[in-house]
Amino acid sequence: MSVTVYFLVNGYGNLKHEIVDPDLCTLCGACETACPVNAISITADRNYQLFDCSENFDSCSICHEVCPHTAPNLDEAFKELSSAPYSLPGIGRFLTIRTARSNFEDIRHITRSGGVAAALSICGIETGLVDAVVSSETKNLDDMPTPQKFKIPMVTDYLPSMLNVEFHPAAVAKAYDSVVKGYTRSRVAFIGLPCHMTALRKLQLFGHKSSEPLGFLISRFCLWNPQSMKAFSSLLRAKGVQLDTIDEINLGDSIRLKSDVNAFDIPLAEIWECIREGCRICMDFTGAFSDVSVGRVEGISKDWSVLIVRTKKGEELVERAEREGYLESANLPHAAEVGIRSIAFRKKALAKQEVYESKRGVMAPGAFEIMERCIP
Ligand code: SF4
Ligand code: SF4
Repeated sequence: MSVTVYFLVNGYGNLKHEIVDPDLCTLCGACETACPVNAISITADRNYQLFDCSENFDSCSICHEVCPHTAPNLDEAFKELSSAPYSLPGIGRFLTIRTARSNFEDIRHITRSGGVAAALSICGIETGLVDAVVSSETKNLDDMPTPQKFKIPMVTDYLPSMLNVEFHPAAVAKAYDSVVKGYTRSRVAFIGLPCHMTALRKLQLFGHKSSEPLGFLISRFCLWNPQSMKAFSSLLRAKGVQLDTIDEINLGDSIRLKSDVNAFDIPLAEIWECIREGCRICMDFTGAFSDVSVGRVEGISKDWSVLIVRTKKGEELVERAEREGYLESANLPHAAEVGIRSIAFRKKALAKQEVYESKRGVMAPGAFEIMERCIP
């Protein structure tokens, strides 16, 4: 059994020591949202303390507890998910896994990935299951700030243009907080990355007021985020890759990106140099803490996505979307199942290598072991 050791530091100290100083923060904004005295600020590229909170709030550990990369509450945050009957290596627990796409051709065309997240969001809003969706703004990769700005559509017309984005680190919890407090929405769907899902589950468990109206957590598959969008996009450009044409992805010793007409193999070492430190030790490819996960891998037909339903709540949304004609689904082709398992497994193996062998990769005490149990 692993032993979790905490340093005897008050306030922001543990978070700073375990996550911020080793550069493992992925800028999700959960700590900023949860801090009761507004002592933390997340800017485009860093997390910093506005004032020393320990002077007036000496036993507070909230920011450390809600961070998706720390151990506290991680086991508990996974509890609801752990009753799902099935599990695949590197993917976590689930109720069903299949392939799906939006029934609307224009949405499929805009999103290039079957438009499943869009279909679920539109269905949610139009049938009253949700009253707002939090997602990232779609932008040209070169102009994209890190973290990205969030948009909060409450009517469906704005949704599709926001959903065609694959790389979106963003201060999600903050966006979530503002939709609840600023717009007083009470049933919010959230589309984000696996680490966002973990952060929101932790906020929910912690009983933070912004997490009460948590509607549905929809996770994208995530194969890391770049430290700098500019450096990443110039690497892709040098290889001749236009990211918005990429339909399939695979991961071995290189990353294989496939469009309709081309396939590009980029050595992993070159990509690795561009990846955020916090992402290098992330083992979650599909969003194991979500209600529903969506993404594309090799082996799936064009304009379809893999759809993993993990919770009863997720199942309710997906069934409603199918019943009311927003979404269609089919059995997952064997090749696609092999594709997801192989990427998920490889991502996890690389994270382990980074944590156990590289001097750079240090994980908050206990968190990596708990994650390994959640995503065996
Ligand atoms: S990952 Fe999120 S919760 Fe953790 S330190 Fe960074 S912004 Fe805060
Ligand atoms: S690799 Fe993990 S930590 Fe990084 S953005 Fe993706 S889900 Fe978040």
